[in-house]
Amino acid sequence: MRLLGEYKSEPEGAEKLYQKLDYFEFYPTVKSLGNGGELLALVPQRDLKQAAWWRDLTLLASSLLLLGVLLAVVTVLTRSITRPLSSIVAVTTDIVRGDYARRAEPSKIRELNELGSAVNHLARQLKEQIASLHHQAFHDPLTDLPNRALLTERLKQALARGDRRGSEFVGLLFVDLDNFKIVNDSLGHDMGDRMLVEAAERFSVCVRPGDTVARFGGDEFVFLLENLVEAGQAVRVAERITQELQEPFTLGEHRMVVTCSIGIALSIPAQKDLPEDLLRNADVALYEAKDGGKNQYALYNAGMYSRAWERLLLENELRKAIAEEQLRVYYQPKVRLATGESTGFEALVRWEHPERGLVLPDEFIPIAEETGLIVPLGNWVMQEACRQTAEWRDEHLIDSAIEISVNVSARQLWQKNFANEVCQVLSDTGLEPACLILEITESVVMDDVSSAMAIMQELRAMGVQIAIDDFGTGYSSLTYLKRLPADYLKIDRSFIGGMGEEFGDTSIVEATIRLSHALGLKTIAEGVETREQLVRLRKMGCKMAQGFYFSKPLPNTEIPQILKNHLPLARS
Ligand code: C2E
Ligand code: MG
Ligand code: MG
Repeated sequence: MRLLGEYKSEPEGAEKLYQKLDYFEFYPTVKSLGNGGELLALVPQRDLKQAAWWRDLTLLASSLLLLGVLLAVVTVLTRSITRPLSSIVAVTTDIVRGDYARRAEPSKIRELNELGSAVNHLARQLKEQIASLHHQAFHDPLTDLPNRALLTERLKQALARGDRRGSEFVGLLFVDLDNFKIVNDSLGHDMGDRMLVEAAERFSVCVRPGDTVARFGGDEFVFLLENLVEAGQAVRVAERITQELQEPFTLGEHRMVVTCSIGIALSIPAQKDLPEDLLRNADVALYEAKDGGKNQYALYNAGMYSRAWERLLLENELRKAIAEEQLRVYYQPKVRLATGESTGFEALVRWEHPERGLVLPDEFIPIAEETGLIVPLGNWVMQEACRQTAEWRDEHLIDSAIEISVNVSARQLWQKNFANEVCQVLSDTGLEPACLILEITESVVMDDVSSAMAIMQELRAMGVQIAIDDFGTGYSSLTYLKRLPADYLKIDRSFIGGMGEEFGDTSIVEATIRLSHALGLKTIAEGVETREQLVRLRKMGCKMAQGFYFSKPLPNTEIPQILKNHLPLARS
């Protein structure tokens, strides 16, 4: 209609209109008007296409918008899932690698947050447990001191540092409690443990921060001192350690003083000492200190090494000697001074060495004590001496009152089952209990009087007799002496030897004889070598004696001769 209006006034209007209409493409549509007429509408296709284009554009735009929104939502969601997840993965990877420090990030998603917390808890627990395992691996469980492994590691580092600095050296102190075995055997392991814990506490205050006190095992402690500039510093620590032990330990109702022996070794700067060398040197020095009588320290020197080596050889040989039956029991008669007749014998061990000949006990008993070999050795001597005495009795070589004395070492005495052991020997050999005298040195009794009295009472209750050996050397107090459940006092031979020469010794012997009679004890004088000594002892009222003047200790084969002849061993 619009086009019709536009071109109807022009002369060539119809022509132009046709041209124009040619340009349009029409979309015809017919609609019924209801009154029989019909309406034909021609809609230009361009208009229709335009409308369709707009519709498509709107659809595309809204789709793009939707996609954008969706993308944004996905990105936000992905961030809050993947980040905590990857953080959890990182923590677990670290745990696998042995690093427990990293923690998972918190998450807004509840499940992820819980997973992260669980992983964190696990990491924390693992960290604590690994730390505790690490501590256990390098510390002694009883005292909580560094153990041998940690000490060795620190020693290695200290030696390396010392070598770099050149002038400073490292000191190593090997400390061993003297006679600790006795504490364990007599008071039990719980008390022994308490003593070790307290000793560890006392030791820890003896060193500077940075030094190490370690428990090496049993009653052995090792002190590692760093940055020393003179040997005196190590010696002063040794003195401090000794001082710390002067205060008695309170163990239940017992109060006990324990001493220690210390071996000191020093590194030589720039010499590249190995940890094991220094440890060995300190150990060698410790043995030297023990050998010197305990309760002292010794500084390592090269000569000690060969002595330690010899001792080691001796220990091995002694083990072999026991196994190969190279030990012998010798018998020294005890003499009644009034008649000169033998009242019995003391069993004294000898070692028939295949190359060295007869070795005396002073050479090997201390080693046997140290190593514990004294227990099988001493028990064998007791068994053999009782068996032999019973045999002589059965052969009517001795009358049934003859007594056999057997020496008992500290270690034997403090064995839990010592009384049972004695009982077993008596029943195996058939010897009367009253014929057996167990000799216990005075110093062993004095080490722990109450425990010694308990075991002595137990033995006496079995009918066995007890002699206090080497009396006069163990600082007995009169109070104890009065209460000691003993039958004999054996006056130490050092006093007998000094009689007539040292005024003091004569007085001591005289006083001891009187005292022991007053206490109802029998006295035996040890080490009588001369007639003068015998005469003096008789005058003093001593009834029995033992010594080279009468007879040296003899092998069992020579005893029947003495017994058969019934000869007095020495006439007045
Ligand atoms: P002891 O028990 O005091 O034994 C006495 C020691 O004095 C013996 O030394 C004996 O030979 C020696 N003797 C005896 N009369 C004289 C004398 O007139 N002059 C001198 N100079 N010495 C004399 P032995 O046999 O060398 O034993 C030394 C120590 O070894 C013993 O001292 C004892 O403590 C220990 N012993 C010996 N045998 C054993 C044993 O079987 N077990 C244990 N635990 N110790 C033993
Ligand atoms: Mg003896
Ligand atoms: Mg003696």
